[in-house]
Amino acid sequence: MNGFAPGSVALVGGGPGHPDLITVRGRQLLLAADVVIVDRLGPRALLDDLAPDVEIIDVGKQPHHHPVPQWRINELLVEHARVGKRVVRLKGGDPFVFGRGGEEAEFCRAAGVPVEVVPGVTSAIAVPSIAGIPVTHRGVAAGFTVLSAHTDIDQVPGGPEHTVILLMGVSGLAATAATLAAGRRGTDCPVAIVEDGYGDGQRVTIGTLGTIAADAAARGVRSPAVVVVGDVVRLADPELEHAPLASHSTLSNREAPQ
Ligand code: SAH
Repeated sequence: MNGFAPGSVALVGGGPGHPDLITVRGRQLLLAADVVIVDRLGPRALLDDLAPDVEIIDVGKQPHHHPVPQWRINELLVEHARVGKRVVRLKGGDPFVFGRGGEEAEFCRAAGVPVEVVPGVTSAIAVPSIAGIPVTHRGVAAGFTVLSAHTDIDQVPGGPEHTVILLMGVSGLAATAATLAAGRRGTDCPVAIVEDGYGDGQRVTIGTLGTIAADAAARGVRSPAVVVVGDVVRLADPELEHAPLASHSTLSNREAPQ
């Protein structure tokens, strides 16, 4: 792979939040950056390792609150590249899964700024795995659909043997669950919600399409969370929530004196 040319942009998928879950390429580019433009989600702990002269611009989006609008983020990428900086756009998960990375890449290319896209571990698949839930499983589910809960849920194919993964699904959960239950999945179809995967607030809630909205309300479930719907949820192992990666301890353990 090539180096990181001054005057270019790297759209780096940071993975779902744990600092160990970025790719080697992503980490290399991050350490070589002059400017890093970051989101709220993603491995923010990695910013602590950057040299003091690296400019960090926080454009952190929260549900219904986007402090820096997307058009301005696009402009910031181009403006910094044009003055010869190496610009990393550090994003949560994969840049091309509900990350608006495609728009950012297009904008840079249209402005004549070279862009490299570094894929990331998407929360859509990694966060269910915290609870031991595989998105496909031989004899249980042969495929999956990843949706933003804002899209047409009634168009999702199949029944409980086709896994549905919802991102940004907390606020619309009651309506989404009712729509999915009205199809072949039915109210008994299992559902898991994994909140704040790899973060301090990591928590797994398991119910069915019939119960999950009330379960989530009772437990005060909050964004960010991944919702998984389908028979694969029966494979969940709540104990796995305590797997080593669940805390941010791996890096510091390694660095601790023996
Ligand atoms: N590009 C990202 C997704 C961005 S959309 C990716 O590939 O992962 C933001 C949504 O992703 C959140 O609303 C939530 O549904 C999900 N998400 C991202 N990180 C998460 C995490 N650590 N724990 C739970 N959900 C997460």
